[in-house]
Amino acid sequence: MDVHLNKCQDCDRVIMSDETHHLCDICYEKYDLEIGLVEDAIKIHGYERPEVIARHTHLTVDRVKHLLEDAKQAARGPESEELCSNCGERNALMKSTYCWDCQLTLYHNLSTEARQATMNQEQQAAQADTGINSLRETMEDKRRRTGAARFRKPQQSVKGR
Ligand SMILES: [Zn+2]
Ligand SMILES: [Zn+2]
Repeated sequence: MDVHLNKCQDCDRVIMSDETHHLCDICYEKYDLEIGLVEDAIKIHGYERPEVIARHTHLTVDRVKHLLEDAKQAARGPESEELCSNCGERNALMKSTYCWDCQLTLYHNLSTEARQATMNQEQQAAQADTGINSLRETMEDKRRRTGAARFRKPQQSVKGR
């Protein structure tokens, strides 16, 4: 990795820098805190627009945009070569099958979608159950009838002999 002396992007303090580190320790801590706030605003409150996130986190809109862009870039790694399974246009995030933009729009639908998915699964399971039950009943019914018929016939022929 190419490490060299550089200036912190935010405060101009001289730091050891490489491709992934552009901030000094102090600014990185601040950055880490701020990106946490932005992530919470997205994950917990479902905010999408930088303006809304900025109001919620008390950061400037530009700062939020910068953090979002950074998070987007940080999330993209060698493993995110696959395309987003939702839009198929942008690269998917490392730990997701969705790209950042789709992830954002999906975040606030996630809880409702998850609930609906569970409901659908339960409904399907219930339907499958009734299906199996009625099939089982029909089979037992048939077996009972054919079994009875089979049982009766030899008995009758034995008696008849
Ligand atoms: Zn700094
Ligand atoms: Zn997408």
